[in-house]
Amino acid sequence: MIIKPRIRGFVCITAHPEGCAAKVAHEIAVARAAKQAGGPKRVLVIGASTGYGLSTRIAAAFGHEAATFGVFFERPSMKGKPASAGWYNSVAFEKAAHAEGLYAKSINGDAFSNEIKAQTIETLKADLGQVDLVVYSLASPRRTDPKDGETYKSCLKPTEGSYHNRSLDTDKGEVTEVTIEPATQEEIDHTVKVMGGEDWELWMQALAEADCLAEGAKSVAYSYIGPEITWPVYTNGTIGAAKKDVERAAAAISTAHRCEAYVAVNKAVVTQASSAIPVVPLYISILFKIMKAKGTHEDCIEQMVRLLNERLYRADNAAPELDDTGRIRIDDWEMDPTVQAEIAAIWPGIDSANLRERSDFDGYQANFLNLFGFGLPSVDYEAEAEVDLPLPSAGQ
Ligand code: NAD
Repeated sequence: MIIKPRIRGFVCITAHPEGCAAKVAHEIAVARAAKQAGGPKRVLVIGASTGYGLSTRIAAAFGHEAATFGVFFERPSMKGKPASAGWYNSVAFEKAAHAEGLYAKSINGDAFSNEIKAQTIETLKADLGQVDLVVYSLASPRRTDPKDGETYKSCLKPTEGSYHNRSLDTDKGEVTEVTIEPATQEEIDHTVKVMGGEDWELWMQALAEADCLAEGAKSVAYSYIGPEITWPVYTNGTIGAAKKDVERAAAAISTAHRCEAYVAVNKAVVTQASSAIPVVPLYISILFKIMKAKGTHEDCIEQMVRLLNERLYRADNAAPELDDTGRIRIDDWEMDPTVQAEIAAIWPGIDSANLRERSDFDGYQANFLNLFGFGLPSVDYEAEAEVDLPLPSAGQ
């Protein structure tokens, strides 16, 4: 079928298989160009199909020749409709990895469930024995706790009074105003339940009990801090409470399983998760303009290459430098005070009329479309595309 983007708010409900493959091929080329000896050899990525998880998988496989196992929750093609972008990304990734002779298998299902953990561990034990890196990169709006079957929902709200700021209607390209009322204690607790560290701990415990963690194994989960303008709704909001819990979990995992568990603070990028956060798309549009002008602009793959090569698996084998609360900082170029000062100067005067001049909103939109495989110059979008693509590792 001929597939066109169909955008509904901050999601695109269609995806293009060849466009997704072209984007994966681009990320593979970036990882290959940064190839470095050493590094992880057997990697489990939880949340491996889009955004930071996909890029970590690509950086490990094509930058370090690692065998990778990916867990994700994506929609295959049904009744002739396109699959989700993460499905097509994973098909393209596995094909490229297999062509290179690299082990790559994936499981599509709910990572929060006991069943998917058990299936993953069974395959890992049979195929790889143990893993030396576990990447935890889930971003989900809900989680069903396997202990009691209760489903919790996360929300993006401030916790200390209502929050008012500029935001961006990315559909219309209009700068708007947004007011968000503070979360209740229950909403904070539920967001921690979904996006906090509990599930990461359950994964690490299950892997340790099954003797799947190699001696000296590392694990990493991702966090974000960002600029003060977003602190009320991010760092000091419900999601920030969850991220604090991820930091707690990192320390608990390191102690309990004698492995190195880290929180890496990554930069703001356009992903399906970040486009849903109020205020953040406007901030990212300004950030892109400034970082592109400075030559420090990065997308997920450049970030994850730096995380592996310059932090987790340094050529000199040194331990990663940590900030004063023990986190790896790969958001260093975003948080550069000169970058932040320029954003702070632009922020108060930005409006719908000057949006394209004072920010890289066009770049933001192009990046958003790319997430779903649209807008890639090498793809003929007028041509028929095969939508029903199986995962190469399915049934292996
Ligand atoms: P994303 O939406 O691109 O990816 C989320 C991944 O989680 C996908 O692979 C999806 O399939 C998987 N997933 C979701 N629910 C699942 C479930 N129930 N079972 C199995 N898989 C499931 O998100 P992202 O932006 O790459 O976020 C990943 C992590 O990086 C998050 O912790 C996020 O907070 C963090 N982070 C993001 C940014 C940013 O700007 N996007 C910045 C810093 C840190």
